[in-house]
Amino acid sequence: MGFAERYETTLAEVERVAREAGRDPGDVRVIAVSKTVDVDAVREAACAGAHDFGENRPDCIMEKSAALPQESWHFIGNIQSRRIPDIVRCAGLVHSLCHESHVHKMDAAAAALGKVQDVLLEVNVSGEASKDGLAPADVPAMAQVCAGCANLRLRGLMTMAPQGDMEAARAAFEGLAKLHGQVRSQLDPQAAASFNELSMGMSEDWREAVKAGATMVRIGRALFSDDFK
Ligand SMILES: *Cc1c(COP(=O)(O)O)cnc(C)c1O
Repeated sequence: MGFAERYETTLAEVERVAREAGRDPGDVRVIAVSKTVDVDAVREAACAGAHDFGENRPDCIMEKSAALPQESWHFIGNIQSRRIPDIVRCAGLVHSLCHESHVHKMDAAAAALGKVQDVLLEVNVSGEASKDGLAPADVPAMAQVCAGCANLRLRGLMTMAPQGDMEAARAAFEGLAKLHGQVRSQLDPQAAASFNELSMGMSEDWREAVKAGATMVRIGRALFSDDFK
């Protein structure tokens, strides 16, 4: 099976799961996480109809977005302060903002480039010590900080669920969806209107995420790897 077949199968499955959950399948976007593959594989994926790609390293998003500038590029990795200008230059959406100093640096980098950067706040819903992300209790204040930045547009929230425990994953996704609603109710109407994205779910757990309200699922291995089951 090649990318095209896996992509088609996955889209059909996303549509089915969304409908079963009473959701409009058009409200769920599949981000193809291309971090493990080269530019040629991304080009093949684009030919198969995928146009949103996720990368977790600045060097990789720079290389691939330069080769394929017409695609939408998502930065989903750890943010290092000194790489913020590089990330802002390439990314349509940054999923992984979670430090206040980075919020201000990203706002300044976007201003310098004359752009408004779409961002999500990454939340550590499950509270695992190994994970990056804001504690849920800190999200409302950080959302207000973002709302005060002229060159950032806060689009929603992102999380990574605990691996290998579907019950825990479900709880994390439902927790993020609930938090999203709470935060949105505290934003002014204009900010609330564009605060409508929930980036959650990966190869193993995206079905649970779609059921819980994901608007973006970030799928890597199930699309790009031959041996993902
Ligand atoms: C790698 C990665 C994914 C995709 O993971 P798969 O299990 O390969 O689908 C999604 N989100 C983030 C933040 C990642 O780093």
